[in-house]
Amino acid sequence: MKLIIGCDHAGLELKNEIIEALREEEYKIMDCGTFSKESMDYPDIAEEVARLVLQEKTRGFLICGTGIGVAIAANKIPGIRAAVCHNIYSARLAREHNDANILTLGARVTGGGLAIEIVKSFIKAEFQAGRHLRRVEKISRLEKKCLREESSRMDYIQNYVKPVDPEVAEAIEKEEARQNNKLELIASENFVSRAVMAAQGSVMTNKYAEGLPGARYYGGCEYVDIAEELARDRVKKIFGAEHANVQPHSGAQANTAVYFAALQPGQTIMGMNLNHGGHLTHGSKVNISGKYFNIVDYGVSRDTERIDYEEIREIALKARPQMIVAGASAYPRILDFKKFRDIADEAGALLFVDMAHIAGLVAAGLHPSPVPYADFVSSTTHKTLRGPRGGFILCRQEWANKIDKAVFPGIQGGPLMHVIAAKAVCFKEALTPEFKAYQQGIVNNAAILAKALMEQGLRVVSGGTDNHLMLVDVRPKGLTGRDAEAILESINITVNKNAIPFDPEKPTVTSGIRVGTPAVTSRGLNGDDMRELARAITLVLDKHDSEEVKEEARGIVKALCDKYPLYA
Ligand SMILES: *Cc1c(COP(=O)(O)O)cnc(C)c1O
Repeated sequence: MKLIIGCDHAGLELKNEIIEALREEEYKIMDCGTFSKESMDYPDIAEEVARLVLQEKTRGFLICGTGIGVAIAANKIPGIRAAVCHNIYSARLAREHNDANILTLGARVTGGGLAIEIVKSFIKAEFQAGRHLRRVEKISRLEKKCLREESSRMDYIQNYVKPVDPEVAEAIEKEEARQNNKLELIASENFVSRAVMAAQGSVMTNKYAEGLPGARYYGGCEYVDIAEELARDRVKKIFGAEHANVQPHSGAQANTAVYFAALQPGQTIMGMNLNHGGHLTHGSKVNISGKYFNIVDYGVSRDTERIDYEEIREIALKARPQMIVAGASAYPRILDFKKFRDIADEAGALLFVDMAHIAGLVAAGLHPSPVPYADFVSSTTHKTLRGPRGGFILCRQEWANKIDKAVFPGIQGGPLMHVIAAKAVCFKEALTPEFKAYQQGIVNNAAILAKALMEQGLRVVSGGTDNHLMLVDVRPKGLTGRDAEAILESINITVNKNAIPFDPEKPTVTSGIRVGTPAVTSRGLNGDDMRELARAITLVLDKHDSEEVKEEARGIVKALCDKYPLYA
């Protein structure tokens, strides 16, 4: 048996006597000191011995003047049951009844000969479990309860926001309850890990850091530099990119920086039509992209509801854009970046891929990567990638300087260093096998959900999905997208109404809803749960007038929420 022993200066001689006696009995002894008569503080040695006892799953001995100080200190460490003993009987019962794992002795109380007998009796005696087990278990429950109380004192909202600003604290608490009690099917949303959230809520929010790591316009950047370097290195590693800028405050900022770096106002951008799944920043009239550039758009084909690359080629050869933008917010199929590259080359255009929605799938190898083909790749960090709200840009080395300058000082001031720290954490998570399994779960769940919805009479645009989202045409149920969104909200399922390709309805009404699985998969929902979810959705879309049906559907949603609590 390996035994751990330690003492303070008062216990030095007794410790040496005990070690000598135990060596004769051939025990393996780890002596943690102290090794001199110089005055020292007993809590330090108590902590060291206690941690080793837990780590080695064995027993330990602590000696000070009375045995009391080291016992009190050691008992502060969860999992330690330290007993101060002055006689052999107590030492035996400390083991048999209390399952003590540390014996403490007082050098000024107990003489050497007796102390050795006490130690031997503590080593030989075994815990008797039986009726004592229940009591010892109660001790560990008490310990856990205190730890929980301690961690709830660490609840930032309760402890720091509420006293200063109860109105905001209440809004945050209600938002947390909403996230917990509803099923989130908005395809662009997700739940970050506790680690990401903690990094984002950190002191790095206090730091100005205009510039780049190693070349800042402010002093004191040595630690925020570490965070940004880690974020850049990791995101380059994930996607195999030559250069990365992790400073864009959002996906829209990232896209604006790409345009600002590569184009002159008035030049032509070719992007996907918003009504066919594109994004506002790809040339919508109300966005800076549509105001400062000449926009030519492409969409999906009417028959297949998929991108028709031959049609894109024809438009590109006719319009001769300076830049082609690929990427979408509501396109459920694989994008063929090689084909986009070939078209861009033929038309003499730069290729810019905005992978905001699919970045997590690309990171996990579940969607082809745009990085080998595109001159620029932008993304958000908060959608499938499951990081903090933010953006980043990847590019080839030749564009590195222009991209960096476009972000700062081009369109932004100081970077949000707390968000960049959280991005670094997100990227670290994205490099793990668990993340890959998570992304596979998203894709599997989306496929199962799409199939189940179609079996229940809904039409899914393009006949299904290859990624994390689907567009559901709700007209077969006699509803508009706006109606469906409201009906589902009433049973605690959150989706957004969304135009379907060639939608006859106005954008404020629409004929469809967009449904995505990243957030529910983060909660832990699996394929069977997707079938339950589809049942709730179709039940209520079929009979939204019936309060009874709504109650049943709400019950399904509640059972799923209870089964997979958020941040449990
Ligand atoms: C979400 C999204 C963006 C914008 O991201 P924000 O962080 O909201 O600015 C840009 N492009 C695409 C394709 C998106 O889906």
